[in-house]
Amino acid sequence: MENIIPEALRKVVEEVSSLPGYGEKSAQRLAVNILNMPRGEAIQLIKTFMEMLEKIHPCRECGLYTEEELCPVCSDETRDRSTICVVEESFDAFAIERTGKFRGLYHVLGGRLSPLEEITAEDLNIESLVERVKKNPTKEVILATNPTVEGEATASYIYNLLKNMDITISRIAYGLPFGAVLENADDFTLAKALEHKTPI
Ligand SMILES: [Zn+2]
Repeated sequence: MENIIPEALRKVVEEVSSLPGYGEKSAQRLAVNILNMPRGEAIQLIKTFMEMLEKIHPCRECGLYTEEELCPVCSDETRDRSTICVVEESFDAFAIERTGKFRGLYHVLGGRLSPLEEITAEDLNIESLVERVKKNPTKEVILATNPTVEGEATASYIYNLLKNMDITISRIAYGLPFGAVLENADDFTLAKALEHKTPI
């Protein structure tokens, strides 16, 4: 049968569905939603994406997405520099920050180990974490990766790299159900998870 999907539409669906978390159906929905928008609004949406690409980059120290060279956390002199909270993505740190319960620094891995998606330790900001811990007077590293199979595997991988150093390594305590995603947790649950973190 002849493929009647226009080439330009097929390309968008193909590229979007190659992103983690997007299947063909959600990619189709996104493409059609944009096409269905009034043209001016659709162009504004694309411009917003362009602006994000131009302005946002990872913080030089911790990898948190920011507009400055150093993120607001790293440049805040009142933060506790001896504690580093390790998260998968910037939005996990933004969620923890919203609870107001954490006064240390962050380290953003940029993902999690995933054999299925062929994401290995080299693809993540793990080496830079080890360097940070070695270089700075770190007392505690809190592993706040998601309570999923991949998040747990990532936490234990990092634990093994750090365990012989003279620091406390903690795992965030999850009142969250296994398989939950940190950035979706409500503030109360997340605050409790931080409060009840346990040394590994
Ligand atoms: Zn930073």
